[in-house]
Amino acid sequence: MWTNNVKMLNDNNREVSSMAYKITDACISCGACEAECPVGAISAGDDKYVIDAATCIDCGACASVCPVEAPQQD
Ligand code: SF4
Ligand code: SF4
Repeated sequence: MWTNNVKMLNDNNREVSSMAYKITDACISCGACEAECPVGAISAGDDKYVIDAATCIDCGACASVCPVEAPQQD
């Protein structure tokens, strides 16, 4: 029987719900991205800033303000 549980996919054919940015080791902990995140997904971690993947809406604002391109699409 035909069901409607078709999953939404992004350009990489991955589920939209798994989309998030991740901060790489390039982060110099300047804090610029934290203020830019519209959903408060970014916080200071032990040795770099970290993104809560469950909160991130994949807007890319953090990547656009980061001086070292540390936030990368996961
Ligand atoms: S991509 Fe957008 S929502 Fe996700 S952490 Fe960066 S600024 Fe926040
Ligand atoms: S803007 Fe870039 S370098 Fe600065 S805290 Fe965020 S990820 Fe790290």
